[in-house]
Amino acid sequence: MRTMDGFGTRAVHADRGIDDGPGVAPPIRVSTTYQEDTGRRYRRTSHATTERLEAVLGSLDDGYAVCYASGMAAAAAVLDVVQPTTIALPADVYHGVRNLVSARAGIGGWALCAPDELGAGDLWWIESPSNPKCLMEDLPEVAKRATSRGVITVCDATFATPALAQPLAHGIDIVMHSTTKAIAGHSDSLGGVLVVRSDALADDLRDMRNMTGAVPGSLDVWLALRGVRTLQLRVRHASASALMIARWLAANDVPTWYPGLPDHPGHEIAVRQMRAFGSMLSIDLGDAEAASRFVSDLRVFTNATSLGGVESLAEHRLVSDPTIEPGLVRLSIGVEDVADLIEDLDQALHRPQ
Ligand code: PLP
Repeated sequence: MRTMDGFGTRAVHADRGIDDGPGVAPPIRVSTTYQEDTGRRYRRTSHATTERLEAVLGSLDDGYAVCYASGMAAAAAVLDVVQPTTIALPADVYHGVRNLVSARAGIGGWALCAPDELGAGDLWWIESPSNPKCLMEDLPEVAKRATSRGVITVCDATFATPALAQPLAHGIDIVMHSTTKAIAGHSDSLGGVLVVRSDALADDLRDMRNMTGAVPGSLDVWLALRGVRTLQLRVRHASASALMIARWLAANDVPTWYPGLPDHPGHEIAVRQMRAFGSMLSIDLGDAEAASRFVSDLRVFTNATSLGGVESLAEHRLVSDPTIEPGLVRLSIGVEDVADLIEDLDQALHRPQ
């Protein structure tokens, strides 16, 4: 839970008192089993480095955090614990979540429906901003509509990060992040987290995680803990660069999805709900051939999937998601100098064919 006022201070110190030793940096705990009478028994059940990361992430989102082996393991844990009969998903949603919900529908016996058809105990899954078009959900409005019907809300806020938005404070029940992305921030740690407002729900999630074994590895949580210390600095820098890049792209008549642009459908909500517009944007180059050529012509951006790392990435989204517009390219802005990023986009966009 929240222990100190400033976000940056909490990112660095909210895990004080957990597994402290003489070192300024936390130790990496790798043992899978513990001597009896030491307060721990087995790593799947409790792990000090994971608890440190949970203390920080819980503090940043002002709730109780439970960490997982990946963002998708966190998503699966929501389905396992909530056990809804019906789920509502937005049209623009991370394809992995869409695939998980449909693949498990047979086992869970749930059906997909529109938000207004949900009933008590059902699940309303939202992403804000969404992947890849950065569409925004009006979080207080979603929470109000859901609460009046006993519907449980989950917001995947991976694109926003706790540095830019606080879904729990707007009344959402569960916030999810893939910590693989900006939280760990260096493209070297896989993980996920759920943060909830109720300690009882956090206990249920921990019990289920112990049963399914979806715990993160020691090095992954250690790297995420190191990464989260600088989350705010990286996200501020990358968001400022992304805004400049989006404006440059729009000025060059490239159709651009970025909530910081006034003509983006989520702009007004983003202004109300986010501290900056984030480091993710998508552009539409019209067809698959142009998009494929563009990503391979980039020199500073790396042609790769994923997001939120210190290095800027460009992905022809059709490669990951066959349902997407064929010309869509998703850009994840890193911490390089923005002038170099714009120069790179310029040369790849205007290269003679
Ligand atoms: N949610 C969003 C918005 C994502 O972009 C991703 C991965 O790209 C995930 C969830 C899944 O996270 P992970 O790759 O850590 O399982």
